[in-house]
Amino acid sequence: MRIYLPGVKQKSGGALEYHFQGRIKDYFDAAADDKSCFDLAVTVRSSGDKIIVAGKLQAETEVNCSRCLRPFRQQLDSDFEELFTLAPLQDKKLSPEELALETANELTVSGDYLYLNEFIRQLYFLSQVYNPLCKPDCRGLCANCGADLNKGACSCEDEAQIDLRLLKLKDFHPGDRA
Ligand SMILES: [Zn+2]
Ligand SMILES: [Zn+2]
Repeated sequence: MRIYLPGVKQKSGGALEYHFQGRIKDYFDAAADDKSCFDLAVTVRSSGDKIIVAGKLQAETEVNCSRCLRPFRQQLDSDFEELFTLAPLQDKKLSPEELALETANELTVSGDYLYLNEFIRQLYFLSQVYNPLCKPDCRGLCANCGADLNKGACSCEDEAQIDLRLLKLKDFHPGDRA
């Protein structure tokens, strides 16, 4: 995923649009399954020595529900806009440590090209949902027997309810009324 910088600079003020598609496993995460893919729409603008990269990353991946643990396909959407400074490294006298710091930036520029891979890879991981749910009201697994409560109540739940009723009976003393 690379952008030809002289093309962007020529188009001073104007934006160039790019579109990339691919499999997650080929670009961001070798552990992703074959069906997981992404779609990236980017506009790149140049303003002085700055490059503005904006766009939308859409991805579909397989994740496990954090409540019932079942795998399901999840859609991720991430809008972004970032400003990058293009400082020609060869004009500076940097120590190897400074050079490492300087190039630790997510955006990699090599020759006339700006490589988006690392920046988008980080964006992809940041857009992951921490506690994914297969559906908003997923009922999860029974903490007692491990049954999937989306498929119906397990017998533990009945027992718990009976216990609750017994507890209420225990507190019920008809003679207490004054
Ligand atoms: Zn679930
Ligand atoms: Zn149960």
